[in-house]
Amino acid sequence: MKLVWLRNDLRRLDNPALFYACDTQAGVTAVVTLTPQQWQLHSEAPARLALWRDQLIALKADLAELNIGLRVLQLNRFDQVPVALQQLATELKADTVYFNYEYPLNERQRDRQVCAELEAAGVRCLGYHGELIIPPGQVVTGQGGMFKVFTPFSRAWRQQYLQQLPEPLGMPACQPELTPSDRLPDDLGFKALAAALMPYDSQRWPVGETAVHARLNDFIECAVTDYASQRDFPAVDGTSRLSPYLSIGALSPLQCLQCLKVESGSDAWLDSIWMNELIWREFYRHLLVAWPNMSRLEPFRPEVEQRISWQHQPALFDAWCRGETGYPIVDAAMKQLLTTGWMHNRLRMVVASFLTKLLRVDWRLGADFFMAHLIDADFASNLGGWQWAASVGADAAPYFRIFNPQIQSEKFDPDGDFLLHWLPELTDVPRRQRHLPGAGQAMGRPAPIIEYKSARQSALDDYQQRS
Ligand SMILES: Cc1cc2nc3c(=O)[nH]c(=O)nc-3n(C[C@H](O)[C@H](O)[C@H](O)COP(=O)(O)OP(=O)(O)OC[C@H]3O[C@@H](n4cnc5c(N)ncnc54)[C@H](O)[C@@H]3O)c2cc1C
Repeated sequence: MKLVWLRNDLRRLDNPALFYACDTQAGVTAVVTLTPQQWQLHSEAPARLALWRDQLIALKADLAELNIGLRVLQLNRFDQVPVALQQLATELKADTVYFNYEYPLNERQRDRQVCAELEAAGVRCLGYHGELIIPPGQVVTGQGGMFKVFTPFSRAWRQQYLQQLPEPLGMPACQPELTPSDRLPDDLGFKALAAALMPYDSQRWPVGETAVHARLNDFIECAVTDYASQRDFPAVDGTSRLSPYLSIGALSPLQCLQCLKVESGSDAWLDSIWMNELIWREFYRHLLVAWPNMSRLEPFRPEVEQRISWQHQPALFDAWCRGETGYPIVDAAMKQLLTTGWMHNRLRMVVASFLTKLLRVDWRLGADFFMAHLIDADFASNLGGWQWAASVGADAAPYFRIFNPQIQSEKFDPDGDFLLHWLPELTDVPRRQRHLPGAGQAMGRPAPIIEYKSARQSALDDYQQRS
């Protein structure tokens, strides 16, 4: 018997742990570990957890078609996982546990402890890199180290990819006999965890193999060619919206790239900007492994952070969290996040710049808030994004790059469609004035909590004085 420990890899196709376990035809049981206290410590977003649960429910039925039963271990923290898995392996007489690696530090420590416990009990552990196209440590500089800048990393990454041309794995082999599942209620026992979950728009984020692949195919067939021109406009569906599925592993990055490659029918995909975004995702994961201190929320460039005096601004931070800053584009973006668990990439950059550069609030508070609310929350990409915005990350925005929210709004939401959707109070404000700080005060909108020019200047003074 083989055990497959599923985590954020909730798919059958291109799932190396599942594929190689099934290859043995020895009978396979899948197991998940529920650790709500750990989720709380990690600020796991309730919307993301609900999506994870729903994808797991769909996967349970798909696994049964392959004669694979599902066991659910109700635990609390990571430190309970090693013994619980060892006991299950003993109960099932499993001789091997298969899993796909996760890269944040706590997850890696947990996995090391699990492997030690299992191996002491005579159970083999086999790990695979199913979350990445190229495993960490394989894209290196001439000196053998990790790249600190994205462009040379992406060049080397492409070269490696072309040399190896990895193909996604197919459907795992069906097992000879159905292995027993836990007797589970329809919600897999998540009812007890209701407080950790939040309803999300299941029409916008359907789960299950068919729905997820339909989204990928639709995007590649209909939208990827316009991606470069459309991706910055929050009122337009110009990006793939696949990140929640990549985050829970309902889809692998290699499946995304393969779909792009097959559909393009020429070599054009090699220069695709969309492919570049997938490489950013890889970059941040490779960094997390190369610099474990990033998982401890230390900046990649401490020498820059030393120059910044973060301000203790609870009232301003609270206004940012609630979408009440008086800056329409910032507030509309935060309302989108609070209501849907989603925020457009351009707006993530705008609100992160606003918090760190203009309010001068520590990026860690923003990163934690995003982790707690995003349906696509992803530790590595989120850390990367926040450190980029605060200018303390690898290949980060230079410190003097401070987004002007009004200009961003005028440029990327010129007709104010996005603003009006989230701030209907602005309906009667003349079109060009909707972007202005303080717009709509007569209709109950808040006054601006800071004045842009002086906030920008004091941020620059702070950086320059200390440099
Ligand atoms: C402050 C900040 C926080 C962020 N937090 C997260 C997060 O928690 N989870 C997350 O998945 N992304 C995060 N991002 C990156 C990016 O905003 C999202 O990946 C993107 O908006 C997802 O939309 P999409 O699926 O339509 O992406 P597309 O534009 O269609 O891109 C395809 C895929 O590439 C990856 N990708 C795209 N942009 C980036 C990027 N800048 N960095 C890393 N990977 C990228 C994603 O997996 C995405 O699904 C963050 C960015 C910033 C600036």
